[in-house]
Amino acid sequence: MNHFDTILIANRGEIAVRVIKTAKQMGYETVAVFSEADREALHVSLADKAIGIGESDVEKSYLNIDKIIAAALKTNAQAIHPGYGFLSESAEFAQRCEEANLVFIGPDSKAMAIMGNKTVARHKMLEANVPLVPGYDGPSQDNPTLQKEANRVGYPLMVKAAAGGGGRGIRIVKDPQHLITELEAARAEALSSFGSDELLLEKYIEKARHIEIQVFADQLGNTVYLGERDCSMQRRHQKVIEEAPAPNMDATLRKKMGDAAVKAAEAVNYIGAGTVEFLLCVDQSFYFLEMNTRLQVEHPVTELITGLDLVEWQLSVAAGEPLALQQDEIELKGHAIEVRLYAEDCECDFMPQTGRIRQWKMPVATGIRVDNGIVNEQIISPYYDSMLAKIIAYGATRELAIRRLTRALKDTVLLGLPSNKTFLLGLLQDHTFMNAEATTRYIEEQYLPAQQKQAAQGPGDSMWAIAAILLSRMPGTTGWRSTGTLSWPVRLKYQQQQRDVTVFQDGSAYRVEYSDDEIQNILILAESDGELLLQINGICCKLNVALDERHTVYIDNRSQVAMFEKLSFSEKQNQDTLGANLIAPMSGKIAEVKVIKGDTVNKGDVLVVLESMKMYQELMAQQEGLVTGVYIKPNQQVEVNMPLIDIVTSEQANDE
Ligand code: ADP
Ligand code: ADP
Ligand code: MG
Repeated sequence: MNHFDTILIANRGEIAVRVIKTAKQMGYETVAVFSEADREALHVSLADKAIGIGESDVEKSYLNIDKIIAAALKTNAQAIHPGYGFLSESAEFAQRCEEANLVFIGPDSKAMAIMGNKTVARHKMLEANVPLVPGYDGPSQDNPTLQKEANRVGYPLMVKAAAGGGGRGIRIVKDPQHLITELEAARAEALSSFGSDELLLEKYIEKARHIEIQVFADQLGNTVYLGERDCSMQRRHQKVIEEAPAPNMDATLRKKMGDAAVKAAEAVNYIGAGTVEFLLCVDQSFYFLEMNTRLQVEHPVTELITGLDLVEWQLSVAAGEPLALQQDEIELKGHAIEVRLYAEDCECDFMPQTGRIRQWKMPVATGIRVDNGIVNEQIISPYYDSMLAKIIAYGATRELAIRRLTRALKDTVLLGLPSNKTFLLGLLQDHTFMNAEATTRYIEEQYLPAQQKQAAQGPGDSMWAIAAILLSRMPGTTGWRSTGTLSWPVRLKYQQQQRDVTVFQDGSAYRVEYSDDEIQNILILAESDGELLLQINGICCKLNVALDERHTVYIDNRSQVAMFEKLSFSEKQNQDTLGANLIAPMSGKIAEVKVIKGDTVNKGDVLVVLESMKMYQELMAQQEGLVTGVYIKPNQQVEVNMPLIDIVTSEQANDE
């Protein structure tokens, strides 16, 4: 029973890579699945076999149960590891695996069905005596009932999609006036994202920390907890930094929360790896949030402090073996912290970014682990999650782990598209984080507003100078001789800033002069593989750089990553040739078109909803005007800069 020797990994990216590594170490044969966009992905090359499962769109590949089951049968895999995301929490998928005689590496479909619905899970937890956030989880869903229940629960409160996950479908309602609008919006979002408009209400717990317990259960009735993780550093209810153990956690509270988590798991006859999420209040009371019935993104921090391999445990449990350790044999040692490296533009509302990876270098150092699924020159497509890698540090103390992680992040090079590296570095050096005082709302309510108040810290003069040197050396630029040295004028742009500089070159020595009389002296000492060894105004340092065809250079000076563009001298900054017309800010799929030709729109009206990397982005009218052209339809795939909607402003109309 439960015999398998070949495992199909029904996922992609870093988690597929992670699972393949352990499966191989345990002697299993591995099968990767891939969509068209992932043909050359890292997980594909690491597996023993790989099989295409269709188009890039998730519905046609990674979320397509029929195709995945067929792929397993065709490659003679007898077990499927679902990873996280995608089908990992689909009770239907687990059941279909059971029916096809494939071992689903996870809990059984019944446990998943209960925990997959926040309302049903709450009912079960109530029975099991696990503390719940006060709220409403009844069957009546009409506005008057919800309004009445909201008054009973009290404000502020949270509206959640019962079937929700990944931080989506969650809304905070501060006062009664906003309830109905928020309910309507939550219903619509829940229906389109999760296929069910069922909602629940929860009291909004202020100043709480997100503490989750890793549980594990075998098929013989043993359930243990492997300590906790603190994931309070969040943005949009999504984790950014995670650590284990939770700072300031004492043994008594750990045991209390651990026992509650085990009770939660036992209540649904849980098998395998699971996470019970709690909110922990200042007075040390805690409340059940949800149970994630899979391996979690942040599982590495638990692995580092327990010395265990959780994927190994998952495979052993699936094979019918008992847990390797009993509760009193599980020891937590040291401290581990993980950051999630995303392709996103932190200067632009953290919009996920697509593009080609021009340079990817992982840190290598004592106490550092990197889980990633990317390779150089890979194209990051709009179809999937924008999380590219996780950098994880371990140390005997929290301070050591933070220091190592900060350094490792500086050593991490990801060039070619914007990433959140600089943002993460800022967080790691933030006092509230260092003092372990952050609650779940800290980043959004305090950290980001404080950042915005500070004068925007653009790249320093030396970064501009290096950009000028690199861009002036590009083919097509001609220098001219004047008194023995070469010199070039260069016009550079960084975000909204523009600078004109002159680059003087004498062999490997450069002098960059700015129009405001500032001068930088730079000597290029060595150059290889995108790494420059420089002497800047007398100090030697290393930099990583990547040029991209479009007269763009990415520079990483370890602490800061900046992208500069070279403008031609005839180009003016912010030239708005497109007027009020709407173009696609990134590649993605049109989720909704809210206007038709002939409509008049006001500034701020939502014209189009674009879905990209699992995010819904509302594209708004920048000016008021008349819609004169609509070039897109729902479900259509669009490329960056593609014209979507034409709008004629009243000024433009008057001009004609
Ligand atoms: P966690 O609490 O572990 O972050 P989430 O429910 O937020 O759990 O989702 C798990 C992870 O899976 C997230 O990091 C999310 O970005 C990722 N994920 C979810 N859905 C997908 C998907 N369709 N493709 C790729 N990654 C996904
Ligand atoms: P998801 O399934 O999307 O992960 P969760 O219920 O786990 O949804 O909540 C995600 C995050 O939202 C939590 O980590 C926490 O920061 C916040 N949150 C959820 N419920 C509450 C609540 N009742 N009060 C305060 N914050 C909450
Ligand atoms: Mg959650």
